[in-house]
Amino acid sequence: MHEQSYTIRRISELMPTVRVYFNDESAEVRSLLYDSRKLSDTQHGVFFALEGRRDGHQYVKEAYAGGVRNFVVAEGKTETTWFPGANFIVVGDTLEALQVLAMHHRNQFAYPVIGITGSNGKTIVKEWLAQLLAPEYRIARSPKSYNSQIGVALSLWQLDNTCDLAIIEAGISQQGEMEVLHRMIQPDIAVLTNIGPAHDDGFASAKDKISEKLRLFNGAKQAVYSPDHIAGIPVPSTGRHMTWGAGDALLHVMGHDVLAGRKCCIRARYEGQLVQITIPFIDAAARENAVCCWATMLAMGYDSAVIAERMVSLQPVEMRLEMKKGINNCTVIDDSYSNDLSSLHIALDFLQQQQQHASRTLVLSDIPGASGHEEEVYSAVAKLLAHNKITRLITIGPGLMRQSPRFDFVRHEAFADTASFLASLADLRFQDETILLKGARKYAFERISQVLTAKLHDTVLETNLNAVEHNLNQYRALLPKHVKLMAMVKAFSYGSGSYEVASLLQFNKVDYLAVAYVDEGVELRKSGITLPIMVMSPTTASFDALLAHGLEPEIYSFGVLDDFIRVLAGKQLVDYPIHIKVDTGMHRLGFSVSDIEQLISRLQETGEVKVQSVFSHLAAAGDATHDAFTARQLAAFELFAGKLVDALRYPFIRHIANTAGIQRWPQAHLDMVRLGIGLYGVHNEGHKALVLQQASTLKTTITQIREVPAGESVGYNRSGMLTKDSTIATVNIGYADGYDRRFGNGVGSMMVKGKTVPTVGDICMDMTMLDVSGVDAREGDEVIVFGDVDRLAKTIGTIPYELLTGISQRVKRVYYYG
Ligand SMILES: *Cc1c(COP(=O)(O)O)cnc(C)c1O
Repeated sequence: MHEQSYTIRRISELMPTVRVYFNDESAEVRSLLYDSRKLSDTQHGVFFALEGRRDGHQYVKEAYAGGVRNFVVAEGKTETTWFPGANFIVVGDTLEALQVLAMHHRNQFAYPVIGITGSNGKTIVKEWLAQLLAPEYRIARSPKSYNSQIGVALSLWQLDNTCDLAIIEAGISQQGEMEVLHRMIQPDIAVLTNIGPAHDDGFASAKDKISEKLRLFNGAKQAVYSPDHIAGIPVPSTGRHMTWGAGDALLHVMGHDVLAGRKCCIRARYEGQLVQITIPFIDAAARENAVCCWATMLAMGYDSAVIAERMVSLQPVEMRLEMKKGINNCTVIDDSYSNDLSSLHIALDFLQQQQQHASRTLVLSDIPGASGHEEEVYSAVAKLLAHNKITRLITIGPGLMRQSPRFDFVRHEAFADTASFLASLADLRFQDETILLKGARKYAFERISQVLTAKLHDTVLETNLNAVEHNLNQYRALLPKHVKLMAMVKAFSYGSGSYEVASLLQFNKVDYLAVAYVDEGVELRKSGITLPIMVMSPTTASFDALLAHGLEPEIYSFGVLDDFIRVLAGKQLVDYPIHIKVDTGMHRLGFSVSDIEQLISRLQETGEVKVQSVFSHLAAAGDATHDAFTARQLAAFELFAGKLVDALRYPFIRHIANTAGIQRWPQAHLDMVRLGIGLYGVHNEGHKALVLQQASTLKTTITQIREVPAGESVGYNRSGMLTKDSTIATVNIGYADGYDRRFGNGVGSMMVKGKTVPTVGDICMDMTMLDVSGVDAREGDEVIVFGDVDRLAKTIGTIPYELLTGISQRVKRVYYYG
């Protein structure tokens, strides 16, 4: 990774080293390791025994066993003679040594470093800046939210000669921490995102917190901040100040307008000019983060027009909001790692998007640091909740208990602590609710999350709803404005789970949903989906349920048409929307093209139904060798639909293109398209303009590991004969979960600790055995069964559709979203 590399001797010279024990002082060091569970590049790694919540010195043995030979340890903590062949650097303080090394490394590079701090939004501003600046710069940036005393050091270690800009996050929770981070980062451009309203426990006052954060600005050539956030405290930057905000600021924000389709236009004045940007988000936090990025770009000398052009296509940044299936048909949104006003705001926004249950419950802990200004903080919380229409509020903590009267507008139960909440769980009767868990760390909401989420099986199918949304937008960008979009959510949304995906699609304003059976449509209605829904295979027996839930049938034959008209007549219903399916070559369901005259007269003589759409299905839209056939299908369809519209004299929607059709047949987009598998990030044909994201990942865990000697066999029928001594891991997934038996005996593979490992022996009903020889795998480790279904399907001669929809219902579905 690094052009210039370090030897262990060189590293010892750069740090405040007390003494060394070298076996090979020229050993090359490339990566920094600190967690014996996450060892990579062990050959070129140096393990820092850090003394945090656990003492890293207790893990030196494991790291050594894992192949690490270079160590940085504290005085008197490790018996170095136990580890033959290893190099040891002994220092006074291992964290300080790591930080000094990081500082030295950072000093090797003259290119600009942007340092970002603030209470919220650091990660988003970092990720957005990386998106916005990508055309000009090759950027090194902190991974995820690596912004702690350790995280910053590891982030800086990523700097190398292939980059020309670094963006580093700095997060602090106590007095004195920023000084160390500042010494390491030495930002050329320092950015403050915002300051939360409450002060944290680690600071004597809000002013102290602000001053501490502003230490990052020492010596910066550019200081980017909002005067609204700093309470008049002087910014210790000797360079230029690029201020932003609604108050007196260089980039003076005047207001914003929400545009149709979830966009927002922000207006400001800069250098006497009116300027504006449009971003594809509407919530307050996103607006603030975008303005912060805007000011940073101005400070870097970007032109307003270029900034505006790039802001339009900002991508969402994945955050840690996770959605899980809960007990008693509840859905649990787990946001139990922090609690402050701005992140509560974001989480409530997310809760609002969920339509699957009519009731929305918030379980909320006290906000840390509210003491002293409880009145102020909780009246803001009350306002936020009133605004976001929750149906039920459960609070945990003495502060919220004292403030109970503020929340009398909603059904409210208050508990002093997490334990008393858990003790009353049975009385709380959670049922058919969406439950948002929003708790500060010290309230240990992960315990609540554990009891509220049904734990049936260790195998989960994770769906990244961000990816589904991203894919939807990718396809939308291919369509002219007037073309509508029907999203296919049949077969449990291609296996990924129906109402969570449907609810996301509804929020993203697709025009139609389609399911295979009436039951599926009824489920969606029961969970709050109000979009029009087409049912592709309605049966006569299910017409009552169909009508009761306002579903719209596909009508594919005179038999179905007559039956449906009879039922409608019995209920004296008129003009009920139906979808006429015509067979143009698929030869599955549909009226024949030659049925047109008879169909016209049947439709003309009845008032019970009204044609909402007419459609057909392409048999081979993805396959160039059949393009002539596809063109004939399209022509036959247009002729059929043309005759129908002439006869009926009212407009209806015409549609024929599936995913492959959308990609390859722009002339087949007509009035609407039907997007299926592409939504889930799977597509057979390459398309220049499409960058899809994989939506679903199937995961399981290792239940047991054993060493099995050569000559033994693994599994049923002894089909897994071992030719060498092997480490065999048993995982919790089998053919009853939808893991195809054809993946057995090494045809399939899974990922453990980032390594691909083959199956051994036959796949069992509930279990599979893997050969994990040479991989540092442990019982309980996560295993990725599959992500890239396109490739995997080919290995057993099937298609991704079958793999996705074959995942059994007993596999728990988990959703996450940013
Ligand atoms: C499933 C289905 C689609 C979607 O097909 P994809 O290849 O997944 O895009 C479209 N139309 C009909 C009638 C379908 O049954």
